[in-house]
Amino acid sequence: MTALVATPTTVDQAHDDLTHVVCYCDPNLALCGTDVTDSDWVDEDEDTTCVVCVDLVDQPCPRCGR
Ligand SMILES: [Zn+2]
Ligand SMILES: [Zn+2]
Repeated sequence: MTALVATPTTVDQAHDDLTHVVCYCDPNLALCGTDVTDSDWVDEDEDTTCVVCVDLVDQPCPRCGR
């Protein structure tokens, strides 16, 4: 798995029907703190529906700083 891509990706979270954004440093944890283990990764131009993730996507990742 490459760690060179800084762009967060989105996942489709089956449990709450929201699309969250994850950072590549921890693909199982959304930016908002939701556990997205086993969630399906969706297309990059899919709309992020989690408002917390939308707010956080422009901020540096608190874990890896990207
Ligand atoms: Zn979220
Ligand atoms: Zn990160």
